[in-house]
Amino acid sequence: MVDMAGEAEQELRAYVEYLRDLGIYDLYRRGEPILEAAQPDQPVPAEPAATGVPEQVAVTSVQAPAFATSPISTPPIPAKPIPATPLTIRASSEPEIPKLISFNDLAPMPEVRLAPSDKPAALEAIRQDIGDCTRCPLAYAGRHTIVFADGDPNARLMFVGEGPGADEDAQGLPFVGKAGQLLNNMIGAMGLKREQVYIANIVKCRPPANRVPEPVEANTCSQFLLRQIDVVQPEIIVALGSTAATYLLGVKQSLAGLRGRWHSCRGAKLVVTYHPAFLLRDPRQKGEAWKDLQMVMKEMGLKAPAKG
Ligand code: URA
Repeated sequence: MVDMAGEAEQELRAYVEYLRDLGIYDLYRRGEPILEAAQPDQPVPAEPAATGVPEQVAVTSVQAPAFATSPISTPPIPAKPIPATPLTIRASSEPEIPKLISFNDLAPMPEVRLAPSDKPAALEAIRQDIGDCTRCPLAYAGRHTIVFADGDPNARLMFVGEGPGADEDAQGLPFVGKAGQLLNNMIGAMGLKREQVYIANIVKCRPPANRVPEPVEANTCSQFLLRQIDVVQPEIIVALGSTAATYLLGVKQSLAGLRGRWHSCRGAKLVVTYHPAFLLRDPRQKGEAWKDLQMVMKEMGLKAPAKG
């Protein structure tokens, strides 16, 4: 028998994730208590476009993305509004981020550039420092494996995601599930192989039910990602989704506001694009993601492989 309540919850969860991928964090449920009783209700928006999300841009001048995925089955459906009740305590679907500090401001830049042959050992030293980490609550939230990274320690290009999911937690490698397959296709469409890039996440342990990492979790884990970036010293970093962009850049802004231009991070040029998991939910945005990747390809002098 189908569990309707569970299904509705999953649909609502998918919809909230969809909005979050677009950089929309502050959602309020009608009837949910808020601190200032005078605050008006803020229902969950029914349509992403009504919340400042960009309309899909025609991509006629852009070559169609070579990465393909199976089509999305059903679009996420917003939950029915909950009847309003007297409001007393503020609550939102995402915790407030206390203070954001960009990776550039977290620590001084390294004074030396490691020799390529020294990078594998330097990364292994970071992994050893992490040990069987219990520095943040994710250590006690059902994680099986610490997911350190994957790829070439001398990569020119680095991808940073949010945090491991169930597949990654089981295998100990980042982006090995469905989103990982799409990321592999995206990398292939750029004329690269997965082994040629470096892939890591903002947090190294799976958040329960794949929720967004809490600020304390992301901030605690950041020191290690920062050190990994400083060892690899990629030319270009691609921030996959708003969690990666938020913590790497130290700004909480919609993806629309961050995409399409270069940022800087630890001496690398950084570009923001959609998270592959978001592209699986909304494949219409693949053309936009492809534009972001084309910026990277141009900068790196890469050519898309010939089809066939
Ligand atoms: N999503 C992420 O952000 N990272 C992974 O490693 C897998 C899925």
